[in-house]
Amino acid sequence: MFRLIDGVGVGLAANQIGIDSRLAVIEIPPNSKNKKSKPVPPTVLINPRILKYSKDKVGGWEGCLSCSGVRFWIERPKDIEVSYVGKDREHVRKIVKGWEARVFQHEIDHLNGIVCGERVACRNGQVVKGAVVSEAWYQKHVSKKSK
Ligand SMILES: [Zn+2]
Repeated sequence: MFRLIDGVGVGLAANQIGIDSRLAVIEIPPNSKNKKSKPVPPTVLINPRILKYSKDKVGGWEGCLSCSGVRFWIERPKDIEVSYVGKDREHVRKIVKGWEARVFQHEIDHLNGIVCGERVACRNGQVVKGAVVSEAWYQKHVSKKSK
């Protein structure tokens, strides 16, 4: 089985590393920097789909291995219902919430050719002030407060 490296990423889509396949992996380790999230064991998502989105949206900071050095403030549906095929070819259908829902949406976006910079929070067609920051700014002002 695989392990993602904590502090580097909690998900990776196949097309991020040049593999043309609708496959992604997710892992939120128990010692994750994001203390609000519950751990998610290494999970393989084959052909994941979002079936339903909650109407409620929530904002959160996202980084991406494909856009290193930058963090984006992105508003996404709080909860989603997803389906996918797992590593043992089992069909999974479940509701995911919170930060796990954010990670699922981020990785499924990759599989659909969308990177997080395209999801950055906008109002009236303008990027919300402060919604795109450097990794250094994020580490100094946001990351330390969430620990
Ligand atoms: Zn990404």
